[in-house]
Amino acid sequence: MRKYLFYISCTILSACILLAATGCRSSRSFQQKPFVLVVDAGHGGNDQGAAGRRSLEKDINLKVARRVCKLIRKKCKGVEVIQTRPDDEFVTLDDRAGMANYFGADLFISIHSNSSRGWAEGTETFIHPSALGSRSERMARLIEHEYVWQGQRKSRGVKTANFAVLRNTRMPAVLTEVGFISNKQEEKFIKSKRGQKKLAHCISDAFARYRKEYP
Ligand SMILES: [Zn+2]
Repeated sequence: MRKYLFYISCTILSACILLAATGCRSSRSFQQKPFVLVVDAGHGGNDQGAAGRRSLEKDINLKVARRVCKLIRKKCKGVEVIQTRPDDEFVTLDDRAGMANYFGADLFISIHSNSSRGWAEGTETFIHPSALGSRSERMARLIEHEYVWQGQRKSRGVKTANFAVLRNTRMPAVLTEVGFISNKQEEKFIKSKRGQKKLAHCISDAFARYRKEYP
C-alpha cells in the first residue's frame, strides 16, 4: 500500500515536472530538460537516527536539507529540486533511492549527522567504493572543501562506504555527515540556526560549482 501511494505521488510529481519543463520550453525554445537534484534528509518519523544531548539527528538533517533546497531553488536556474522527505516522516532506504531513479535524477545528496562512542569531530562525505574517480567523488570533494573554507569546519575527508542509498542510486550520489551530534560542541553548532545556515550554504555552493563543471 505504501509503495502504491509512493508511486501515485511520484506520478503526480513527475506530471508537475513535465508541465514545468514544457512551460520552460515554450518561453525558451528547445531548452534542455532541467537538471534534477534529489536531496535526501536522512532518517525521519520513527527512525530518529543518532541522538545527541539536546537534539535528534532526523531533525537536524531535515532542517539542513530544507535550507539546501531553498538556497538551490533560489540561486540555481534550470534545476528541479526534489526532497525524498519534506517532513518528519519515515521513508525506506529503497524508496529514497527508488525515487531518485524514478525521476532520472542527475545527482543525489543525502544529508546526515554523525555519531561516535568515543570523541570525534568534523565533517565527512561518503561515496560508493565503485564511484572513486567519478562525478560523485568530485561532488564529495567540493562539499568538504566548502565545509573547511566557508564553514570553518574540521574535515575528515571523503570516504567510501557501501551504504544502500549510494549503492542503489543510478546517478552520482554522495552522503554527507555535517558533524558529530555525539560531540557536545559540534551538536551545539549543527543544531543552531546559524550552524544550519552555514552548512546549507556550504552544500549549495558546492552544488553550484558542480553544476558549472557538469552543466
Ligand atoms: Zn544518519
